[in-house]
Amino acid sequence: MNQTQILSGKVALVTGASRGIGKAIAISLGKLGAEVVVNYSSSEERAKEVVNTIRSFGSKSYESRFNVADEESVNKSINKIVEASGSIDVLINNAGITRDGLLMRMKSSQWDEVLDTNLKGVFLCTKSVSKFMLKQRRGKIINITSIVGLIGNPGQANYSAAKAGVIGFTKTCAKEFASRGIKVNAVAPGFIETEMTQKLNNEEILKAIPLGKLGSTNEIASLVEFLVSSEASEYITGQTISIDGGMNI
Ligand code: NAP
Repeated sequence: MNQTQILSGKVALVTGASRGIGKAIAISLGKLGAEVVVNYSSSEERAKEVVNTIRSFGSKSYESRFNVADEESVNKSINKIVEASGSIDVLINNAGITRDGLLMRMKSSQWDEVLDTNLKGVFLCTKSVSKFMLKQRRGKIINITSIVGLIGNPGQANYSAAKAGVIGFTKTCAKEFASRGIKVNAVAPGFIETEMTQKLNNEEILKAIPLGKLGSTNEIASLVEFLVSSEASEYITGQTISIDGGMNI
């Protein structure tokens, strides 16, 4: 097989793939020949652009709008994807939001929104997809967590709790699914240049990054590509791999 088409015949669902990190991951899996389902919640035009980019490499792709935190839409949409594409071999749980504020001022609605999207969403999508992966006896699941889930961050009690939860969830799923050949890992980015980090104070952040610069979405996509398609990835499960310019040293 041509190395550049290593994922040919595989179906990948990337949540939150209309922009940022999810977009870069979707495009990189499409370049490797995967059929890529581009999930989004509201940015339809941008999701369509991602689909068109993937199609321009000769790979199949289509968009699927659903809210990862809504159980009924998740189950309906994932059933439809399997009907249309025949399987799901790769799930990238990437969709995420922030609702920052110091704990003393954090409203329970800010807590709920972040936990619902960033943690419950990962549970719902994994549960729904695993039904098919368990029958297939194969699959790769990558959960996008964060440096903040490992070391905390003032103003992000909700986000850091959700992202730490994703790490524990990843380990449990890896143990539950290992006997069926399904590998589950997490990727913990540091600060990456996307719309999510646009409002942050870059000067302050740069001081905390030993490599002295923000990361790029392509760097994250390249690590995900490794966890999905390399020979080594057949023997890696339950891990959280940091990609953060050294912030977690
Ligand atoms: P982003 O640019 O804000 O993009 C977020 C994506 O998630 C969009 O595609 C958005 O869709 C989608 N989304 C949001 N809520 C959703 C929902 N309820 N259901 C389905 N899709 C939803 O974010 P990003 O910076 O690329 O971050 C992607 C992931 O990496 C997140 O999990 C984030 O926590 C994590 N991360 C980011 C950084 C960073 O520095 N950027 C660092 C560590 C971890 P619409 O466009 O339709 O709204």
